[in-house]
Amino acid sequence: MITNWIDGKPCDAESGETFETINPWTQLAHDTVALSGRADVEAAVDAARRAFDDGPWPRMGFGERGAILHRLADLIEANANELASADSHDMGKPISAMLTKDVPRAAQNFRFFADHARMAASEVYPSDTGHHAYARFEAAGVVVAIAPWNFPLMLESWKIAPALAWGNTVILKPAEDTPGSATIMARLATEAGMPDGVLNVVHGFGPDSAGEFLTSSDRIDRLTFTGESTTGRIIAAAGAQQLIPVSLELGGKGANIVFSDADLDEAVKWSNTAIFTNAGQVCLAGSRLFVQRDIYDDFVERFVASAEALTVGAPDDPNTDVGPLASKEHFTKVAGFFSDLPDGATVHCGGVASDGSWVVKPTVITGADADARICREEVFGPVVTIQPFDTEEEAVAMANGTKYGLNAMLFTENLRRAHRVAANLRAGTVWVNCFFVRDLRAPFGGVGWSGVGREGGNFSREFFTEPKAVVMHP
Ligand code: NAD
Repeated sequence: MITNWIDGKPCDAESGETFETINPWTQLAHDTVALSGRADVEAAVDAARRAFDDGPWPRMGFGERGAILHRLADLIEANANELASADSHDMGKPISAMLTKDVPRAAQNFRFFADHARMAASEVYPSDTGHHAYARFEAAGVVVAIAPWNFPLMLESWKIAPALAWGNTVILKPAEDTPGSATIMARLATEAGMPDGVLNVVHGFGPDSAGEFLTSSDRIDRLTFTGESTTGRIIAAAGAQQLIPVSLELGGKGANIVFSDADLDEAVKWSNTAIFTNAGQVCLAGSRLFVQRDIYDDFVERFVASAEALTVGAPDDPNTDVGPLASKEHFTKVAGFFSDLPDGATVHCGGVASDGSWVVKPTVITGADADARICREEVFGPVVTIQPFDTEEEAVAMANGTKYGLNAMLFTENLRRAHRVAANLRAGTVWVNCFFVRDLRAPFGGVGWSGVGREGGNFSREFFTEPKAVVMHP
């Protein structure tokens, strides 16, 4: 049974209701989950409010709070197998990826923000008039964090680590498909010495369920959301009702431009990682590949070979690169794109598995026009379209031809072109000759339909605190 975690304790839903979490590889329910109603959400808000208004957490020094967050990071590492299994069973992610990427990154999120908050705790502004002016970055209050299912532990820690490091208390609502790791993480936080009520977890769905009940509360101070752009609009409206800041990390349709002067081996390797990691269920996926015409045929041939070389199979098998999609509902959505391909499109490899599994094999499509649905909408699966281009200007225009603007990649050995194109791309992050390399001090977020606001380093500080100016007469 996966319980809520409220006020430092595991608890069932007050109604006793539960729902099932399905393992997408076996297609069987592997656990039951507390189905939270209004009473559970109120209990979590009460606990978080009390811990913020009267508890020690926001009043601790950065060092003391940071030490607890570091202990939590230690416990995450020590319990890597349990956390990895939880996400892998909930959403089919290969266990190898959990152990080598998601779990270490979750620990790193807590370590980084614990240290960052301590180092970035104030700013002083020497004044011409001799006044002493400084900024205090004070905890904002109760933070509601609403998470998606594609990187459950990793993205939940990305949200709650800065919120906690700056002295806020948190209520986390994980995605309904991936509840397991959040309750484990909250239990580990309590074991690490985090006071009761500082980190709470309530499970449930979005509309007319825990998600909506939380976002409509008038006793919260921040809303941080990662998920689909359509849901982002609903969350933004909820924040507007309460007049509280909202951070939105939303969908993507990442462009990946390969120029003819690129190191082709590197470009093929990174382009493969960019679309097939996590079965393409990555907001940052490089799902639109643009390749300069003089290397187009060569690139497509090598890229298709690299896609076919990936091992598709059971998430528990350490050799698996690509597992099933996270749920039947999501599999059905991704499969729907295949029955809606435009005339002239060629599927070079991959496709929907015909064995009844919820697997979509790494798929490479050419010949689809930019206005085809497959090129415009976020597929969120291991499916990439490739289109040729002739000039740099044309490539930039094609890459920018989307409402999304989360990230883009470009491959070139020409330094001037790299900087020029990076400057002209409309995206929150541009990777040159690499993918997914993160510096947690750098801004992370999206343009247009990909989000509102930035998180990371000082950007998280601005969101999770109420900066206060103090000006003293000389
Ligand atoms: P989703 O929007 O369906 O759900 C996300 C969360 O919101 C879930 O916890 C869900 O229960 C909750 N929710 C849904 N409706 C709600 C409502 N009305 N009120 C309150 N909560 C509600 O998204 P998803 O399918 O879980 O995740 C996939 C999406 O997330 C993709 O579009 C992907 O690109 C995006 N994503 C973005 C980033 C980023 O950093 N920009 C990272 C990962 C995923």
